[in-house]
Amino acid sequence: MKYESTIAAISTAQASAGISVIRISGGEAISVAEKVFRSKSGKKLSEMKGYTCALGTAHENGEPIDECIATVFRAPHSYTGEDVVELSCHGGVYITARVLRAVYDAGAQAAQAGEFTKRAFLNGKLDLIEAESVMDIISSRSKESARAALNVKEGALSRRINQLKDQLSDIAAHLNAWADYPEEDIPAVENDALSDSLKNIETRLNEILSNYDNGRILKDGIDAVIAGKPNVGKSTLMNLLAGYDKSIVTSVAGTTRDIVEESVSLGDIVLNLSDTAGIHETGDEIESIGVDKARSRVSSAALLLCVFDASSPLDDDDRDMIRLANDIPSVAILNKCDLPELIDDQIISDHFDEVVRMSAKFDESADALVQAIKRVCVVSDINSTNALMYNERQRTLTMKAANCVHEAVEALHIGFTLDAVTVLIEEAIGYLCELTGERVTDEVIDKVFHRFCVGK
Ligand code: GDP
Repeated sequence: MKYESTIAAISTAQASAGISVIRISGGEAISVAEKVFRSKSGKKLSEMKGYTCALGTAHENGEPIDECIATVFRAPHSYTGEDVVELSCHGGVYITARVLRAVYDAGAQAAQAGEFTKRAFLNGKLDLIEAESVMDIISSRSKESARAALNVKEGALSRRINQLKDQLSDIAAHLNAWADYPEEDIPAVENDALSDSLKNIETRLNEILSNYDNGRILKDGIDAVIAGKPNVGKSTLMNLLAGYDKSIVTSVAGTTRDIVEESVSLGDIVLNLSDTAGIHETGDEIESIGVDKARSRVSSAALLLCVFDASSPLDDDDRDMIRLANDIPSVAILNKCDLPELIDDQIISDHFDEVVRMSAKFDESADALVQAIKRVCVVSDINSTNALMYNERQRTLTMKAANCVHEAVEALHIGFTLDAVTVLIEEAIGYLCELTGERVTDEVIDKVFHRFCVGK
């Protein structure tokens, strides 16, 4: 697809920095940049080959604005597939905005959110799954989530989807040929073989879907709540995990009145931690608001870190905590293990699959806790090199395709005509084409790129 317009935007963060990059893309990118940029050597950008750069100055109305480097990319060998010039100038907010204004004055239009990546998609540089992963790379918060997103960007998921789509297309082509040209020498369709092939495809689609939870955990993290009665060491634990003092840690019971939140990267997983007010019976009206909030946060948590003071016997508030944790994936933390132990640990072990002994105040690492969290959330086998899926649009379409294939298998067993089976297979192919962006409406494309930032 050819675009009339040439677009430009600042592609780096809009803050003072070492350098800022202004990206210009489109049929007129080089001539637009040439009106703004003069190289020191006198060589024109239009004389430069792709993947080369020149040192020079950006000008506005003949007046120099900044010294910068222009890098030229020639279509189709650029991010967007079009001619692209990137001007790397000094990273001041004012200077960068002035260079961009000069680029607009020279004929470029302001790029919309995600428009560079949208052009890359429309020019066939990326499919829709790969394009979506660009945003996931930008928003990655841990090493593993960045690696997983890069993997998808490099086609790991698209390859698997395309393989299954090709297999379905081969089956549909065979069924159509057999039905349409009975007089030709086309091998008869064996119902058992057809059913086996479809079942195999359904299994592989379901395998991709089963990785969705792992993908979400890598991308968004696990919503975890630290809960327990006052003074057991919740804030101290939060600070140990977060690596710095965020919650107020005091020895007066009931001081963490509201909810303190922090995203913490623990090796390959991210915990979105909430440190709640101590859950206990209280007559204090204001404190009880915090306790009610804590109870409600606990009930919606994906993971509960229940903290108990191992140096004192279990009381009614602890037992209340145990009841609350009943239906939620939880790890029991017996804290203050540096002090003599008085807690009845048998009751705790009876109610929790994972019990970790620690001293949040004196321990320097929380490795045992991290391992227990991984076991409870079944993330021990997350492999970021797998084709992980973490996008709702992708999940819905894969699920619809898997359902169609499942229905095709059922239709075959019930004895429906092969025509009916073919319709279901073609429907599944349609969903997979929408997934990769091969067949997709403008509305869907706009929705996908809407969540991108300007300049990407
Ligand atoms: P919270 O009310 O549950 O958030 O508890 P805090 O984190 O505010 O801790 C209450 C008190 O217990 C503070 O004086 C902490 O220093 C102390 N504390 C926390 N963890 C430990 C621990 O592992 N060992 C000991 N001995 N004291 C701790």
